[in-house]
Amino acid sequence: MSDIPHALAAVKQRIAESARAAGRDAAAITLVAVSKTHDADAIRPALAAGQRVFGENRVQEAKGKWPRLKEEFPEVELHLIGPLQTNKVRDAVALFDVIETVDRPKLARALADEMERSGRSIPCLLQVNTGREPQKAGLDPDSVDSMLRLARDEYRLPVIGLMCIPPADQDPAPHFRLLADMAARHGLAVISMGMSSDFPTAIGLGATHVRVGSAIFGARDYG
Ligand SMILES: *Cc1c(COP(=O)(O)O)cnc(C)c1O
Repeated sequence: MSDIPHALAAVKQRIAESARAAGRDAAAITLVAVSKTHDADAIRPALAAGQRVFGENRVQEAKGKWPRLKEEFPEVELHLIGPLQTNKVRDAVALFDVIETVDRPKLARALADEMERSGRSIPCLLQVNTGREPQKAGLDPDSVDSMLRLARDEYRLPVIGLMCIPPADQDPAPHFRLLADMAARHGLAVISMGMSSDFPTAIGLGATHVRVGSAIFGARDYG
């Protein structure tokens, strides 16, 4: 029934080829398998095939399936890749291992406070709205400097990288380039960019993490 192990292997193969073409080490690129909208039965074949890094975009949905899967597979690293409301910060810090979507001071503050309170410190990325799309989450590229000063230096949030989702209707390459340049300028090691349609391009431009959903799990009903 499940083509997931084959699809996963094919994506890994393409990551290896893209890395080779870019003169990069494929081991330096982490595949974040985006399992949003898919239930535990769809995720299990990926786990059985050895995949350990996953992405979810909704705290509530992730809470419904991941605590049990994480009990079975404690090495799983779960990334939050969707918007985070401050009233979900406690749940998010308890469940996720990386938060990729820090995009405003209030959220950075709430995360730092919760990590202090819970004693659970988890790495964070700043989400950058590289296309300056008004309806889209993420920091304006011009406010990344000040946000880093605030979140990392003042609130002591462990910010280790940047993440972006380019505008759907544009060539993603300039957006990937912009994100990689900003990460380099600030000495941030993690660059999360590239999805099913464009991850080879992202790897060519320096992605350390690619977030791939439909190419592994098939089409989503919503998402
Ligand atoms: C859904 C999603 C992905 C994966 O998208 P696909 O096109 O299915 O690979 C990547 N990043 C974010 C932030 C997403 O919400």
